Parts: sequence; structure tokens; C-alpha cells
Amino acid sequence: MKKLTVLGATGSIGVSTLDVVARHPDRFQVVALTGNSRIEVLYQQCLQHRPRYAVVGRPEDAAAVGARLSDAGVATEVLAGPQALEFVAALPEVDAVMAAIVGAAGLMPTLAAVRAGKQVLLANKEALVMAGQLFMAEVKAHRATLLPIDSEHNAVFQSLPADYAGQPARAGVSRILLTASGGPFRTTPHEALRAVTPEAACAHPNWSMGRKISVDSATLMNKGLEVIEAHWLFGLAPEQIEVVVHPQSVIHSLVQYIDGSVLAELGNPDMRTPIAHALAWPERVAAGVAPLDLPAIARLDFERPDLERFPCLGLAYRALAAGGNAATVLNAANEVAVAAFLDGQLPFLGISEVIGATLDAIPVEEMPDLAAILATDAHARNIASEMLQRCRA
Ligand code: NAD
Ligand code: MG
Repeated sequence: MKKLTVLGATGSIGVSTLDVVARHPDRFQVVALTGNSRIEVLYQQCLQHRPRYAVVGRPEDAAAVGARLSDAGVATEVLAGPQALEFVAALPEVDAVMAAIVGAAGLMPTLAAVRAGKQVLLANKEALVMAGQLFMAEVKAHRATLLPIDSEHNAVFQSLPADYAGQPARAGVSRILLTASGGPFRTTPHEALRAVTPEAACAHPNWSMGRKISVDSATLMNKGLEVIEAHWLFGLAPEQIEVVVHPQSVIHSLVQYIDGSVLAELGNPDMRTPIAHALAWPERVAAGVAPLDLPAIARLDFERPDLERFPCLGLAYRALAAGGNAATVLNAANEVAVAAFLDGQLPFLGISEVIGATLDAIPVEEMPDLAAILATDAHARNIASEMLQRCRA
């Protein structure tokens, strides 16, 4: 029996994770679930999975949910706050932690799981983007196992040899190709991007996801964050990571070897496939995903990304090349800009402007430790908030 903590259980990835878990009660047991604000969803999940612990954002919600669960005969202990997230991520009885909190809020609990030497199923790409070097050093020091949930990185992981160990040259890997759907605005002319709404940006053609990553997909910053994520996960230089737009989202990413072979993982665009892969790894379990019907799909298309219309992808490559604090700054500025866009406070094209201006304003420096990373994150959020005023028009 594999014992699990699901961080971010109430989100898109969390719900898909519990869907796979519920299909295999003989294999997986939920020890802890966490959710920030969708309290009713968390309550229902606790009724179904009966975890030992649940964690919410606010103490008053913890008391209310705990009382309701107790009335329903469920003995879940309900805790609140960031310390409680770290506590359930590091529980001695837990084998694997699904890290599916969105954004920088996921860094500390995900690191807690790493430091406890867990199997970490990593969906929270922002944690790796903002703290890549330290994060990977902690994985090594504490012998944690990192299994990528992001569909592209899961596809690359599946297309690499089992003993890859972050060494492309030894494995004969020349580069990887990360596929991108191109998002809802793939064919939208630049002028029309000025007026797009949060609702249009969140209507992704292939994947159903949380609102922040949906906007990231619309700007192509999601692919930019994934380039940085791939750099840390697979030990590849920036020039070994190529992005190719593939609107059908059937090929989830590819690995090219020095002999010309290209290996890929294909499937329907459903996150339950990478989730099931990581949950059962190195075995396989059913995920509830429909089998791929290639004749029905009929064709697969590919094109190069348009960096003129989608400058966020170029900004991410720039931050990766700069090193030091640049990816932390990029991630923080993006979170501020996307929140402002979703709130109706910033036009779509302002997102890349805020990020570019924040990168310009903060000199590149080394990031010696966690304190420096957290300070840079906070500083970059302040600068990005100032830039919002300028980019609002
Ligand atoms: P979501 O918005 O649907 O869910 C986010 C989860 O994080 C929720 O459970 C929420 O309660 C929790 N959360 C948010 N803020 C929090 C805070 N301050 N403290 C504690 N918990 C908090 O997001 P999602 O789409 O499930 O994405 C989760 C992560 O997975 C993101 O990092 C995203 O980039 C990554 N990811 C998602 C998908 C997808 O298909 N949805 C695919 C690949 C990667
Ligand atoms: Mg992805």
C-alpha cells in the first residue's frame, strides 16, 4: 500500500489525482489532503478518502470542517496554515507527496517533502523555476525521488533510459523537444491580443486546468517555465531544449538521441495519464483515460513558436541564460502580472511588459540560499506591482 499526501487536492491536478487513486483502493491510501479556499470540495474529499489529516488556509475554516467531519463520523484532524502544509508533506508514514499547489506558495511544502526524502510527484513547476539549483541539491542530499507530473516532462522522463541520472552526454541525448499546444490564441493576430479577456484566455482548446496555468498557456509563459523546469530536471543546456508548437497535444514531448533516433510519449491530453504513471512508477495502472485513436485524430501538425506575438517564451529563455536570481524574478513577476490580468487590472499584452520591465530593473545576482530566494521573490513582487501602474494603459 502506497501512502500519499496530496498538496493542492482541491485543484485541477489534485482532483485528477484523487480520481486515479479512487480506481485503485488496493494500492493507494490517502494520509493527508490540503486545499486553500474550496472548503466544500475538501470536505467531500475527506468524506470519501478519510485521511488522517486535512489542511486548509484559515484556522476558522479548519474548526468548521473538523466539526462537520466529526459529526459525519470521520476522524480527520483538520489543521490550518503554511506550517501545517510542511508538516503533512513530511509525515513519517507517507511514501509519496503529490506537489500540486499552484505558484510560489508550493515551494516550502514541496521542499519539506524533498527534505523528508519522499517520492515527490512534481506538478508545482513554479517551485523548481524559482529555486532550481537549491531544489535539486536538496533532492540529491536527501535522496528524494522526483517524478515529473507536467505532461511534457513526464513524456521526456518516459522517453529517457531508466539510469539517465541527469547525464545527457552519457545517455547519448542531443536535445529534447517540448511540445506546446499554442494555447487559445495560437492563430490570433497581434492587434486582437490587446483586447482578449480572462475568460477567453482560460478557455484552453485541449486541456482543462486551473486559471493561473491557463493564462500561462495563453501567453506561452507556461512553456517558458517548462523550459526552465526541463533544464533542472534533466541537466540540459538551454540550447538543448527546443519548443515546437503541436496544436493537437497528442505527442507530449520528444527526446532526440545523437544517432538521429527520436523517442516520444503519446496519448490523449488527460493529466490522469502522467499522474497514474508517477503514482504507480515503475509499474503501470489504469488511469481511466480513453485509448488513443490515431485514425480519428487523422493528422498531427507542427510549427515554430512565434516569439513576436508571445514574448514571454523569449523572456524565460533570457532568464535561464542569465542564471542566478533571474528565474526567481521571472516567476514572481509573472505571478503578479497574471493575477492582475485575471483581476481585470492589466491588459493581456501588459503581462509580458511587466515581466520584461521587472527583469530589467533587478540586477542578476547569485542565490546562495533559501533566504536569498525568498527575499528575491518578495522584492520582485514589489517591483512588478510598481510596473503594473505603468503597463496598465
Ligand atoms: P488549481 O488552481 O486548479 O489548484 C491549485 C491548488 O493549490 C488548489 O488546491 C488550491 O487550494 C491550492 N493553493 C492555491 N494557493 C494556495 C496557497 N496560498 N496555500 C496553499 N494552497 C494553495 O491549479 P492546477 O491547475 O491544479 O495546477 C497546480 C500546479 O500544477 C501548478 O503549479 C500548475 O502549473 C501545475 N500543472 C497543472 C496542470 C494542469 O493540467 N492543471 C498541468 C501541468 C502542471
Ligand atoms: Mg505542461
